Amino acid sequence: MEIKKKDIRALSKEQLRDFFVNEGDKAFRGNQVYEWLWSKGAHDFEDMTNISKETRQKLQDHFVINHIKVDQMQKSADGTIKNAVRLHDGLIVESVLIPAKNRTTACVSSQVGCSLDCRFCATARLKRMRNLNPDEIYDQVVAIDKESRLYHDRPLSNIVFMGMGEPLMNYNNVLKAIDKITAPDGLAMSPKRIVVSTSGVPKMIKKMADDEVKFKLAVSLHSAIDEIRTSIMPFNATFPLKDLREALEYWYAKTKNRITYEYVVWDGINDTKKDVEALIQFCKFAPSKVNLIEYNPIDDGEFQQANSKAIDMYVKMLEAENITVTVRRSRGKDIDAACGQLANKT
Ligand code: SF4
Repeated sequence: MEIKKKDIRALSKEQLRDFFVNEGDKAFRGNQVYEWLWSKGAHDFEDMTNISKETRQKLQDHFVINHIKVDQMQKSADGTIKNAVRLHDGLIVESVLIPAKNRTTACVSSQVGCSLDCRFCATARLKRMRNLNPDEIYDQVVAIDKESRLYHDRPLSNIVFMGMGEPLMNYNNVLKAIDKITAPDGLAMSPKRIVVSTSGVPKMIKKMADDEVKFKLAVSLHSAIDEIRTSIMPFNATFPLKDLREALEYWYAKTKNRITYEYVVWDGINDTKKDVEALIQFCKFAPSKVNLIEYNPIDDGEFQQANSKAIDMYVKMLEAENITVTVRRSRGKDIDAACGQLANKT
């Protein structure tokens, strides 16, 4: 009977060491193989040149290396790059490289499709197929780091979990991927340069605080009025603002980390003074930053970017309350790489 081969990168260093000991080999062989897999990015056991032929064959007999493959790369006129990434089972997710003056940011996916149903988001139209494994998340970052070096002459500096999927619905794998990204024998990136952006799952925000994670938290808020938020993000009916706020208070009490809110202002939906007042009331309990993100309509429907007068009103009123506010221009619109646009059109 043929044995089903395991993905070798699902094994920890300890498990790899144990494998070799059980096979009558030395434990340090596990360290060597681990280094090939994670620091040197080997795609094939044959690449592991300091491992004997016999051992490579043994690995071949037991394991596979499930690497992602960048199926298609699209470049925007503004330098943004979007990758359509093929996974080992043929499913596809997208990730984006966003170059700016002093930084290059990777926007990565955490699920194939999404479990949530935000009405303004193209990903929501794809049903959730499965969670990504830690190595599939890690590989997206490695691929973007390579592209950043190749096309922008500098390494990747920041990562945001704002691609396809709700990262807190795939929490354990996201955490494991971040562990690898920040590990000295992984990519050695600082957790301070990583933002996990959630649509707001209260019990998971509390768990993150309990786990004392070192990366940053962003919340896609879009409205601080329950009725409006539920109409935009229907899961708000299950996790209302009161619960979200309580979880964020818990997060702040434990971490003392500033909270970032991602916020799109849509024409006729959340563009009045009352909306800004509710936002101020919601976020002023802790040091906060509001990113007002320019929206890219995914069709001719009800979600259209508000006019600049409404944005100016938000900026003025938030600043008057000493809340940091930035207006984020949309990037990569021409290749459907901007916020809310990731939908595997390719
Ligand atoms: S905005 Fe994020 S959480 Fe909402 S449906 Fe899209 S991918 Fe999922």
